[in-house]
Amino acid sequence: MSAQLFVVATPIGHLDDMTFRAVEVLKSVAVIAAEDTRQSIQLLRHFNIITPLTACHDHNENMVIDQLIGRLKNGENIALVSDAGTPLISDPGFKLVRAAQEHGIRVTPVPGACAAIAALSSVGLPSDRFSFEGFLPSKSSQRLLQLEKLKDETQTLIFYEAPHRILASVKDMAQVFGADRPVGFAREITKTFETIKKMTLAELVSLIERDHNQQKGEIVLVIGGAAKEVDLDQLKLDQLLTRLLEDLSVKAASQLAADLSGVKKKIAYQRALELTAEKEQDKLDRDLN
Ligand code: SAM
Repeated sequence: MSAQLFVVATPIGHLDDMTFRAVEVLKSVAVIAAEDTRQSIQLLRHFNIITPLTACHDHNENMVIDQLIGRLKNGENIALVSDAGTPLISDPGFKLVRAAQEHGIRVTPVPGACAAIAALSSVGLPSDRFSFEGFLPSKSSQRLLQLEKLKDETQTLIFYEAPHRILASVKDMAQVFGADRPVGFAREITKTFETIKKMTLAELVSLIERDHNQQKGEIVLVIGGAAKEVDLDQLKLDQLLTRLLEDLSVKAASQLAADLSGVKKKIAYQRALELTAEKEQDKLDRDLN
């Protein structure tokens, strides 16, 4: 069988979250490409893994890719790990995975811990649709711009944040998303001082201002999506759009519907697309029967 690149998730705190398969794979491969070899050596020692390590991080990824692809092509299996959690998720590895794929090398995930998913699964906010946003820009002006773009997003939003920026970021979020927007605060997941709380953004600002310990450690913020603006008026909007779509394009119908109803253009446009798709599906179903 040809060689594989294994993308191996490792614990985000509690070492017992290492999977049996991760240990097995890390023991079996020729080399482990690690974000920080000094960090990974501790994990390997804990599990008695003696496989050699090689560095593969943001600053040398381009340089080591050729070397790693060469080894894979020579039939050596390689594992990719990051310092904690799932590689590529706000961690290096994307370029290596893409290169392996381009060279026809099989890429095999070995799933495990991921802070974003652990937070989402425990903070009690809707998890049916979500958007992982990673880290926000460190400068407040850029951060505010980015948050503005996400303000009307109705999906749950997941952010990673560094402890020294947490207060500033949550304040910016309260300013842009509104003080009452629900937030899930997941700090030090699986570690001694694990904190999982749900509150409003205003309450979170006050909590982390009062208790400086809440500004320590690793943090995931899960933000409830924007409330859908149309509710009672949905039926009226649908009736209006249905009529307009008989004579107009989706763009023109949604523009006119937005003007007449006061609903946001983006929402009218989205609904017009849905109604058009439903109509087409109905027609297909009728033709098939
Ligand atoms: N690849 C990792 C994963 O799968 O979650 C994420 C790596 S990213 C460089 C590090 C960020 O993940 C931290 O700043 C924090 O936002 C989040 N994080 C990692 N471990 C965490 C933990 N135990 N509790 C809360 N957040 C954590």
